[in-house]
Amino acid sequence: MQIEPIKAFEDNYIWALRREGQLAVVDPGEAGPVLRFLETSGDRLCAIMVTHRHGDHIGGIAELVARYPVPVFGPTREAAEVVTHPLRDGATVCIPGLDDEFTVIDVPGHTLGHIAFYSDGVLFCGDTLFGAGCGRVFEGTMAQMQASLARLAALPPETLVYCAHEYTQSCLRFAHTVEPDNAAIDARSAKVDELIGAGRPSVPSTLAEEFATNPFLRWQSPAVIAAAATLLGHAPVNDVATFGAIRLWRDSL
Ligand code: ZN
Ligand code: FE
Repeated sequence: MQIEPIKAFEDNYIWALRREGQLAVVDPGEAGPVLRFLETSGDRLCAIMVTHRHGDHIGGIAELVARYPVPVFGPTREAAEVVTHPLRDGATVCIPGLDDEFTVIDVPGHTLGHIAFYSDGVLFCGDTLFGAGCGRVFEGTMAQMQASLARLAALPPETLVYCAHEYTQSCLRFAHTVEPDNAAIDARSAKVDELIGAGRPSVPSTLAEEFATNPFLRWQSPAVIAAAATLLGHAPVNDVATFGAIRLWRDSL
């Protein structure tokens, strides 16, 4: 399976999964860029995969399925207006045309029904985990979001993280504010600046890179705990409190 980004809106990535002329897309918020990609590549659309109900992830689906009546795999608990094949936590789904099997992981927090897709070293995580960041906690609790991130963090460290937005540069600036002495953050910033400067995506990253640089996975790092303690005015009582304090800090900027 080949994976390529299709750019949409300002900073969204619609991920294109290709195998032998067949193409599945993840989170097509717009139809136009997908249709242009299909025209250029000559691929046949075989499936659509959806992580959550936000418009910048599902907005293009109606137009795509009107042209190509393909199955739409997505959450059980939301986006029912577009999803034809609702998926439960732990389900395995074989994407027709690709023949790749994905495991579904419930990751509530950004939205309550948000799911992620994992297959053999690749993760499509929508707006849950970003390069050096994580999605806003719109619907769930801090505890739900932290637990969701912990589930993703339990995947193999070499897993490639395909998130849905190019937010890495600004996330790394925040990461540096949280942990000014973390050299891995500065090294990653330099690398990402170079990629973006060359017009290339900063994603996918690996989970290992995220462990080293992402403050929203580093609730056990002494520097992140110390930052949370300063924000809270007392030591955080647990990982959720650490995560929550950092997330609220980010929201306040
Ligand atoms: Zn979203
Ligand atoms: Fe989004």
